[in-house]
Amino acid sequence: MKQHDLIVIGAGPGGYVAALRAAQLGLSVACVEQEPTLGGTCLRVGCIPSKALLESSEHYAAARNSFAEHGVRLAGVELDLDAMLKRKNRIVSTLTKGIEALFKKNGVTRYHGHARLNGPGRVVVAPVGSAGDAPGDAQELTSKHILIASGSKPATIPGVELDGDRIGTSTEALSYTAVPAHLVVIGAGYIGLELGSVWARLGAKVTFLEYLDHILPGTDQEIAADALKLFQKQELEFHLGSRVTAARVTGTGCVVERAAGAPIECDRVLVAVGRAPNTNGLGLESAGIQLDERGRIPVNEHYATSAAGVYAIGDVIPGPMLAHKAEDEGIACVEQIVTGYGHVNYDAIPGICYTEPEIAGVGRTEEQLQQQGTEYRKGVFPFRANGRARALGQVEGKVKILADAKTDRILGVHIIGPRAGDLIAEATAAIEFGASSEDLARCCHAHPTLSEALKEAALAVHGRALHA
Ligand code: NAD
Repeated sequence: MKQHDLIVIGAGPGGYVAALRAAQLGLSVACVEQEPTLGGTCLRVGCIPSKALLESSEHYAAARNSFAEHGVRLAGVELDLDAMLKRKNRIVSTLTKGIEALFKKNGVTRYHGHARLNGPGRVVVAPVGSAGDAPGDAQELTSKHILIASGSKPATIPGVELDGDRIGTSTEALSYTAVPAHLVVIGAGYIGLELGSVWARLGAKVTFLEYLDHILPGTDQEIAADALKLFQKQELEFHLGSRVTAARVTGTGCVVERAAGAPIECDRVLVAVGRAPNTNGLGLESAGIQLDERGRIPVNEHYATSAAGVYAIGDVIPGPMLAHKAEDEGIACVEQIVTGYGHVNYDAIPGICYTEPEIAGVGRTEEQLQQQGTEYRKGVFPFRANGRARALGQVEGKVKILADAKTDRILGVHIIGPRAGDLIAEATAAIEFGASSEDLARCCHAHPTLSEALKEAALAVHGRALHA
């Protein structure tokens, strides 16, 4: 039986970062991961490979559609999908090996297998595919502290028969070996829009079937409505208010049925209807931990579960399922364990959809402010009036800043436009430091940069934008 100060279950961004931080703080740390490679969904089959394909497909689309406008003529632009997929795989492999190296450097002990709680302070690590009951199969670890960071898996809908090929989740959609002629995407959230964009740029006809009457649930509605118009201009097809009831493989393709409207035939189906917490086989019952109504592990403000010494973070607990949220929770949790202090500011967690244009937001949406009855002022600045956006040839979109009407404190920032995902960092820092729109407007922003649109939107909060 091996003893550690902390056992982390799961080596995704939440778990591996928590393990590294705990090792920095001097703990003897074990990290148990059932997959052969480290990094979790994010590195293996999520954020990183999707960003690699988004980047490559954007280059392909630009070479075909917008280089000529820059005075660059290319004849016979061809897609080499195999090379594109290999590049993506290389990036994933480099990064997952990087985590192995970080574990070695920081002295984190990695265990390969499925972890299960086995009474107070005990975790059984069973070889993957075994129940771990056969003698000699499994090893037992002990520790005063156990952190569950087991992440999430794609959610499914009844009636939709996943065959792991034609009807699949984001995992399959990261590796189609040919461009589908017609891809139906169920769900117009982050995953559907990002991967739908990839395959549309590579030549597929893409149809989104979305249950709600709008896309991007949880996003500021003005920004989501702008996004819908821009995506429609890119010839992505949307059926809103369209609830999928069934999907199955037919002889030559697939058919998708909806609660209303004719069935749709297509070559492939991507199911992107959210993600579900990964709690199967964790032995939570043995520790007396009960899940909430959505299958998540309830925790207190220090990420402690109802079982003494057992903590949980990331996608298995309530809150947005985002890699950076899990990372910050992991750090806060181990800092709390070791130092007695650790905190995450949930008002300053950015969310980004890496489409073209990118969509990013932090803090409150306009709808949330209205619902909670907060009086606010709004400053908006279009990228069309920004010199750098003109030079880039990416003028669609805007920055919108929402500030408290009385104190001028920034409450929310929402951006749709070029590099919105990078620009949101300044807004996040502003919210974290409790900045006012006046503070942001008075910061010197280099010219010509896209960030000037943030400064101008901050000026616009008081009707003082200079270039619009
Ligand atoms: P999501 O919850 O963002 O969107 C799922 C969509 O599917 C919703 O709009 C929902 O209304 C729709 N839907 C559900 N059932 C349906 C049905 N029967 N018919 C038609 N539509 C239906 O989920 P997602 O896009 O799958 O993403 C999962 C999680 O992963 C999210 O929490 C997201 O934040 C996270 N994620 C983040 C990023 C990023 O930060 N860039 C990227 C990918 C995923």
